[in-house]
Amino acid sequence: MTVRRLLASIHDVTPVHAARLDRLVPIVEAAVGAGRYALLVVPDFHRRGRLTGDPQFERRLRGWADAGCEIFLHGFTHIDESDHAGAAARWKASRMTAGEGEFLGLSTLDAEARIAEGRDMIEQLTGRPIAGFVAPAWLYGEDSLAALAAQNVLMIEDHFRVWNPQTSAVLARGPVVTYASRSRARIASSILWSRLATGLLARASTVRLAVHPHDVDSPRLLREIARALSAFARTHRPSAYAELLPGRFS
Ligand SMILES: [Zn+2]
Repeated sequence: MTVRRLLASIHDVTPVHAARLDRLVPIVEAAVGAGRYALLVVPDFHRRGRLTGDPQFERRLRGWADAGCEIFLHGFTHIDESDHAGAAARWKASRMTAGEGEFLGLSTLDAEARIAEGRDMIEQLTGRPIAGFVAPAWLYGEDSLAALAAQNVLMIEDHFRVWNPQTSAVLARGPVVTYASRSRARIASSILWSRLATGLLARASTVRLAVHPHDVDSPRLLREIARALSAFARTHRPSAYAELLPGRFS
């Protein structure tokens, strides 16, 4: 029998969002179980909240990792500080990502430095290797992809797939179910997509559902997230991304 997997993740895990995470984490845990979701950690979110400057948050992160949560590195600052060459690149960076595409325009050298420093911070804190890397806004430039391969990162993902940046082997396909909280129109369209997705993806072998701290600002979004997670958890086993790696059949 095929195992259908649900990979739930919480993006933008940072001391800056500690209060929102207090509300979001219990909703995710109620649907998928403690330790059965991934956390995407930003080492210095918007250069306003270094992970290692907050002992209370450090303890929380260690606790989540000890409970079984997979910890992914999620950029370093999460803001796009690159000087994009060309009008098209500038447009894409500012309009498509609201300035959050940190890894879209970085040079390989700069990307490697951020990956290495962020990974070190997280691994020293949790005592475990990171599960992988997810670029802010799921956007990668060519140079960032080369940096991830050079840094020996084994798993990355974008909106449509999960893959190994060294071998380009695709580990899972399918659109991620996620939510936008920036405006009423975006909230309405995310709720519509989420409702459709529970039907459309009911037989998909892997379903990814990603939530963000700002989702808690909308009660409608929170209700839909709880509904969608519970619906998927009935058809798909809440699982770890690591199970997608070759040789892992658990
Ligand atoms: Zn993010």
